[in-house]
Amino acid sequence: MTTSTGASKVEALQQNLLRQQPQSRALLERLLTKFTGRTRYGAFAPIHGGHCAACNVTVAAKPLQEAKAGAFINCASCLRFLYVESI
Ligand SMILES: [Zn+2]
Repeated sequence: MTTSTGASKVEALQQNLLRQQPQSRALLERLLTKFTGRTRYGAFAPIHGGHCAACNVTVAAKPLQEAKAGAFINCASCLRFLYVESI
């Protein structure tokens, strides 16, 4: 009956990120402090149509490829961790 509230999704994203890129922990904590509760997106934003969903900056081709392969990349503008939403 529960639909996604968003909170557990962010937790899953954080766990994935730290498993893949443990060195990103410091940046993640900075972004969480900066963005959580202030904007619609926290430290993570999905890529929509090749753009960062949070700030709308175009994601370059190479990182976009990496994101499609399942990696987390950082937005060139807002620095959020970007990911491709699986449908
Ligand atoms: Zn951005």
